[in-house]
Amino acid sequence: TALRAIGATEPTHKSYTHVSYDAALQAAAKVDEDRKAGRPLPPLAGLPVAIKDVLCTSDMPTTCSSNMLRNFTPPYDATVVAKLKQAGAIVIGKTNMDEFAMGASTETSAMGVTRNPWDTDRTPGGSSGGAAAAVASGTVPLSIGTDTGGSIRQPAAFCGITGLKPTYGRCSRYGLVAFASSLDQAGPMGWAVSDVAIGLQAMAGYDPADSTSVDHEVPDYRAAITDPDMKGVRIGVLRSAVDQEGVTPAIRTAFAEAEKVYRDLGAEIVEIDLEHSPYWVPTYYVIAPCEASSNLSRFDGAHYGYRHEAGASGEAALENTQPLEAMYRSSRAAGFGSEVKRRIMVGTYALSEGYYDAYYNQALKVRRLIRGDYDAAFEKVDLILGPVTPSPAFRLGENIDDPISMYLCDLFTVGANLAGVPAISLPGGTNDDGLPVGVQLQAPVMQECKLLAAGAAFQ
Ligand code: GLN
Repeated sequence: TALRAIGATEPTHKSYTHVSYDAALQAAAKVDEDRKAGRPLPPLAGLPVAIKDVLCTSDMPTTCSSNMLRNFTPPYDATVVAKLKQAGAIVIGKTNMDEFAMGASTETSAMGVTRNPWDTDRTPGGSSGGAAAAVASGTVPLSIGTDTGGSIRQPAAFCGITGLKPTYGRCSRYGLVAFASSLDQAGPMGWAVSDVAIGLQAMAGYDPADSTSVDHEVPDYRAAITDPDMKGVRIGVLRSAVDQEGVTPAIRTAFAEAEKVYRDLGAEIVEIDLEHSPYWVPTYYVIAPCEASSNLSRFDGAHYGYRHEAGASGEAALENTQPLEAMYRSSRAAGFGSEVKRRIMVGTYALSEGYYDAYYNQALKVRRLIRGDYDAAFEKVDLILGPVTPSPAFRLGENIDDPISMYLCDLFTVGANLAGVPAISLPGGTNDDGLPVGVQLQAPVMQECKLLAAGAAFQ
């Protein structure tokens, strides 16, 4: 069924960078055989899932939607992929994304643009736009995205699905091609809260191969969503965030309606403020590029990835450059797209001698204040309710030439990454044009159960 749905929708939506038809059919036949023979089946037996093309898969290419890795197939599976396979899921393909997960529209992909299934002139969001569109177009019930600054939640909101960014360290990052290591986290994207709970159950847990993964017992996420009770749950609302300029009316309406739903369910609504929220985006856009410039230095044409043969495109020899350096330069010049180069340049600048204290160190200090705001807020409330994005899905091409407006898409999402807390994007209705609008809940670290329970109560 999943493969048929891909056949029908893929020509327009282009959610995938790779689909493994034969392997998927074989895996499905094997599950059928086991079922008929009465053999015990693992919990996700036969469930088709799609994986963002930033997570390593040993049996499929992993391109990060970059020319740099166009022909790269890793020798191993990312831990979260291995865990899903162990649970019986069938990985049917890899999904399109912004190049190296840098972007908010899937337009920086070197593999072509993904379209929003609700309106194909619009973006599905990004960077996990393919993973969101794969679910929204009905090809899979569950996909795995990654979220460094909103890349699970924003595309989930634009595509009318549910997306969860787990606590930093809840899921292993082993085999996740690093963008910003202190922010990156993989998480499930699904049609409903229950799909996401099932996905997280399979993915979460300590991994000795990732020193930042947390050795903390994995609770029963599915139990958390049965009969959720919102009575007495304290929900903090970020009213000042919603009231700020640039937030469209549909977002305000969805937020107000969500607040009412929770009030009616017996939750206690508390006004809160995260004092340093005006600094979220600037802090993120120092820290993320700094880490990216360091992480992406490994793509040099020698160790990994694309190698540009000197003179291949007839360019003039670089004056005063040794052949090795010329190879690095031309491979990186040809292998990376312009947004990736912009991030590398910003990051390298901010980390360079004489600027380091003014930018990177300063950003780390502000990050601590941001975490402090969350800690203080979570002494007063159990959850924080707010918007996911300032607007519903925008048109393809609308922001791609204006990095600042693209970065402002992350206004409400990067706080959770900087603080390391878990957050979920829930479908919150549509605007007048029928475009989906999301609402966001954030919880204290390792409190995914609270997010899922509140999400289930809302749906
Ligand atoms: N839009 C953000 C960025 O471009 C978030 C990306 C992400 O979460 N991977 O950096």
